[in-house]
Amino acid sequence: MGIDIGGLDAAIVAGFPGSFSSFWQQSGRAGRRQTESVVVFIASSSPLDQFIITHPDYFFDRPHETAQIDPENPYVLTDHVKCAAFELPFTDAELTSPHVQAAFPPETVEILSALEEDGIVRHTAGRWHWSDRSFPSEGISLRSATADNVVIVDITEGRNTVIGEMDRPSAKEMLFPNAVYIHLGRQYMVTLLDIPNRRAEVTEVEINYFTDGVVKTDIQVLTEDSIVSYLPEKLSIAVGDILVRTQVAKFKKLRFHTHENIGFGEIALDAEEMETRGVMLLLDNRFFPLHDMEGSGLDDADLGEILSGMGTLMRSVAPVFLLCDSRDIGVWPRIRDLHFSGPVLYFFDRVPGGSGLADAFNESLPAIIQASIDQIQNCPCEYGCPSCIGVHSENPLIKSSAAGLLKNLVSGSPGDKN
Ligand SMILES: [Zn+2]
Repeated sequence: MGIDIGGLDAAIVAGFPGSFSSFWQQSGRAGRRQTESVVVFIASSSPLDQFIITHPDYFFDRPHETAQIDPENPYVLTDHVKCAAFELPFTDAELTSPHVQAAFPPETVEILSALEEDGIVRHTAGRWHWSDRSFPSEGISLRSATADNVVIVDITEGRNTVIGEMDRPSAKEMLFPNAVYIHLGRQYMVTLLDIPNRRAEVTEVEINYFTDGVVKTDIQVLTEDSIVSYLPEKLSIAVGDILVRTQVAKFKKLRFHTHENIGFGEIALDAEEMETRGVMLLLDNRFFPLHDMEGSGLDDADLGEILSGMGTLMRSVAPVFLLCDSRDIGVWPRIRDLHFSGPVLYFFDRVPGGSGLADAFNESLPAIIQASIDQIQNCPCEYGCPSCIGVHSENPLIKSSAAGLLKNLVSGSPGDKN
């Protein structure tokens, strides 16, 4: 801000910004004049950054990502219809014409009727007129499918200043009462989270810890569109609609720098429910031989850690292949899944209704698995770290089992853990 980027000769990209498109856009801030320029990329310890830094050929040969959006997502479509109706009224005649239906599917009529009930459009003489005072594009977030944000207000010593905004599901995980919120290097404590009025109040504090909400997730499979097998007769993958229920019931207080746990607190907030799209890896006994693993002394908690480590790693490298941030993808491991009976690794789109990310994830799965194998094999740690499976484990079998299982997925040689 305030810098004349036309004259910059060098740019430093500290940490991969999440997509190749953003990377080149940031790099392009240097060298706008006719002279030579330099861009330095500093990799963080994240698996994605480490993958890029160890695969420079891949990095330089790669085209930009393809953006995914699901135009039939009801949240996306409703906003699309609102903006269109604001520009020009829909007519009944055009809603049935193939020309218009190419851009607005048949559900458009139902959406317009629902908007009329809310007083946002008015249907008269065969035309749907915009009748709301708002400007519809203002309510649309380019990052998420819903614009349902909580405003963060600093009320220290009578101040009443808005210092930030957060989407509602994230607010429940990060702005619960007594949570520590950090903004521009200052610490604030949340004193109130008023979900119906989309408002959080914070006061400035000075303390030696930060807070981390413990999120419990539960998933229900609503529909299975297809069970496919990319690698013939090997791994089965189900794609479908799921209901994700998340609840933050308590939080940890972690000391700065050492991350030592210095206490817990309770959180009394309703669970959050979201329908979205999921990709489920059905890890039957060939890939995840529960009995063999139990025979090696691993208990259910260890098996959960292995599955969770695989999921964390795959999610972290996924943005190499998809235009997204790793936080756009949810991961949930279940050792004894009742719906599919067996171990299942769930990946889901964190945008309500799904943005098309789950299907794109599914299509890139072989490449994501291969990149995860490369990353875990090349990671110099012994027992797991944030650059591979996400955690350091006391049990040496966690990392090696996660690596072995990932290899099983591509080689299809059951039981070959090395
Ligand atoms: Zn590691």
